Amino acid sequence: MRSEKTEILIIGAGPAGAVAAAMLRQQGRQVLIVEKEQFPRFSIGESLLPQSMEYIEAAGLLKDVVEAGFQYKNGAAFKCGDKYTEFDFRQKFSEGWGTTYQVQRATFDKVLADGAERAGAEIRYRHEVIAVDVEGDTPHVIVRDPQGEEYRIDAQFMLDASGFGRILPRLLKLEYPSNFPTRGAIFTHVEDGVAPGGSFDRNKILVTVHPQHDDVWFWTIPFSNGRCSLGVVARTDFLDQYPGTEMERLRAIVGEDAGLTELFKNAKWDTPARQIVGYSANVKSLWGKNYALLGNAGEFLDPVFSSGVTIAFKSASLSTACLQRQFAGESIDWEAEYGIPLREGVNTFRTFVEAWYAGGFQKIIFFEKSSKEVREMISAILAGYAWDKKNPYVAESKRRLTVLEQLCAG
Ligand code: FAD
Repeated sequence: MRSEKTEILIIGAGPAGAVAAAMLRQQGRQVLIVEKEQFPRFSIGESLLPQSMEYIEAAGLLKDVVEAGFQYKNGAAFKCGDKYTEFDFRQKFSEGWGTTYQVQRATFDKVLADGAERAGAEIRYRHEVIAVDVEGDTPHVIVRDPQGEEYRIDAQFMLDASGFGRILPRLLKLEYPSNFPTRGAIFTHVEDGVAPGGSFDRNKILVTVHPQHDDVWFWTIPFSNGRCSLGVVARTDFLDQYPGTEMERLRAIVGEDAGLTELFKNAKWDTPARQIVGYSANVKSLWGKNYALLGNAGEFLDPVFSSGVTIAFKSASLSTACLQRQFAGESIDWEAEYGIPLREGVNTFRTFVEAWYAGGFQKIIFFEKSSKEVREMISAILAGYAWDKKNPYVAESKRRLTVLEQLCAG
């Protein structure tokens, strides 16, 4: 079997892998990405959070993203029957970007990967990692190339950015089940036919709570080309009640909400719907000897606050900062400097996700008499600033949310 060497091997050229690669190239590292698909390829996760812009900028990819012509985004709107509320991310507690984009991921991921390649990373598309070995001093993988031939790559350090492929967690048995119930999503892209000038704000993601089931919700993510991403998220036992094709099931559930039915009355449902289930996952450790897990290859919570890509970028930023010091000869405590700091923000989001499905967070956001200060603190989390410990809703998220929920219910 032929064999090669690289300094850093990255599995997967999605957002985590591409941004990590671009950051490592700034440090002058040799970077090889092995990506099993040919880009552009479809991916879900289309609404970014403003916090993610900081990492795009730090990776030197801001111009590429800005010039790609994506839909501008400045906030999130929530609707449940007649109740409506919106958060403008420019009015938020934390410092930093207040706007971002809603992106077709096929294009977005290619823009980032092309940027990483331009920065000097090598990307091998249609090469799939099929085995890993982390037992030796340094890790190696076995890769299958597009012709079906297998070869070996030895790396000084490996970053698993394989997303839902979860290569290292699966092959090294690092996974343990999420404590969230199994949920799934059915989604499509439509030509939305929404006339400009109405109440629909294309600059915000719209999250609609199902009129009868407060743990079932829909996303409406407008794009810049007159199209929208539209999806429903629910427990799988709820979704399983609906017969037919994915498209028939999605349309049936969307049809139960009067607001979405009206919004999409002129839509062309021209793209087959897809379903993804059981995406929430945990791992025992986010790192090991000479490897780290990035983005969804580590943990994935839930789509409700659009936090996935932001967490993927944060993991790229933290891990590459550790690598810079490790390659400079420092000894790095990966748990203290990567695992714990990454999980801090993930756990803030986790508290909010739990409060969303328990119904408490919905009481909070639809409460009409909230103070401006509290709304700005909540707005900062919704904008992705889940690591800003100056925000009381980060520092003490569980306690604060519980108290606030009681206030809003009373
Ligand atoms: P990915 O984007 O999954 O990239 C991983 C790459 O690894 C892929 O290109 C894959 O082909 C490659 N790969 C896999 N296995 C191998 C292998 N064996 N060899 C080589 N390459 C391999 N996030 C948001 O920020 N906003 C949202 O609005 C949002 N909505 C979501 C809705 C749903 C229903 C779900 C399930 C998730 C959503 N997310 C959202 C989360 C988002 O999809 C992910 O967090 C994000 O894509 C993670 O990026 P990543 O780089 O870790 O992985």
